[in-house]
Amino acid sequence: MSNNDNLRLSFEFFPPKSDEGRSKLLKVRDQLNTLNPEFFSVTYGAGGSTRDNTKGIIKTFKQDGVSVAPHLSFGGDDETTMKALLQEYKDAGVDRIVALRGDMPSGMGGAFQMVYANQLVAFIRKHFGDDFHLEVAAYPEIHPEATSYDDDIRYLKGKFDAGADSALTQYFYSPDAYFYFLDQCEKAGISNPIYPGIMPILNYKNLIRFSDGCGADIPRWLRKRLESFGDDTASVQAFGLDLVTELCETLLENGAPGLHFYTMNQVEPTAAIVKNLGLND
Ligand code: FAD
Repeated sequence: MSNNDNLRLSFEFFPPKSDEGRSKLLKVRDQLNTLNPEFFSVTYGAGGSTRDNTKGIIKTFKQDGVSVAPHLSFGGDDETTMKALLQEYKDAGVDRIVALRGDMPSGMGGAFQMVYANQLVAFIRKHFGDDFHLEVAAYPEIHPEATSYDDDIRYLKGKFDAGADSALTQYFYSPDAYFYFLDQCEKAGISNPIYPGIMPILNYKNLIRFSDGCGADIPRWLRKRLESFGDDTASVQAFGLDLVTELCETLLENGAPGLHFYTMNQVEPTAAIVKNLGLND
């Protein structure tokens, strides 16, 4: 597989918490930037200090001339605060936002508002027109709180109807789930691109813990295979690299418009897959 100008790569980070983490992340960014992503994105914890960490690192990326999209949700903010934050991003040269409802950060209690992502998309379009390309989240294995498969697709369509441009998915290891989801989206009248989210496999226990919470399925055969490596992290990672490379090959060969990598703020896991796919030239 060779690099294709139409194939979109994007790389997700979480915001650093310390000066040390910040300079480490900038080095990771510079290395991953040699793989020509269309943009990086930085996650957002809607409460407390993590929200300012996101803003800080986004501004640094923009000052360095690097394309980056902040993730954003209302959390506990009111409309005035949200408008001011969006204006600050616009003034900093940000032209893409990942618009989310978000999850309640621990310790935030009743301050969290259930502002659905379609409402945030509508809010941004109302106050900022087409100033931002808007990405939203999609769930090929269905959001854990969804009332039904069809409802979740209907709400995804609501995000596009409100003005979203494209979607980034939760990660998954079953390509069938993604392609079935795309078919159902098409039947529901969605024609916007839906980019698969790719999670490299680095650590069995962390993967299981995280997946249980976010509604990503780890198929039984994969759990069993990963379990069999025990504490042999090198074998888990070597197996994971082959598996996720194959997953990406299947996705791209069958028409996925690109790949969105959950980098976990590391170079190697993502770079190795991109290199295996021959997308690094
Ligand atoms: P929504 O699209 O609003 O959907 C949430 C739930 O409500 C779904 O079950 C849906 O079926 C239902 N629903 C949607 N609209 C309506 C409606 N109008 N009425 C009734 N029900 C409705 N979380 C963070 O906190 N920070 C991040 O930076 C972050 N980044 C992410 C990036 C990606 C690519 C993905 C896939 C997820 C990310 N998340 C992040 C997690 C996300 O915030 C959670 O999954 C959250 O629970 C849902 O957010 P959403 O934008 O998908 O919500």
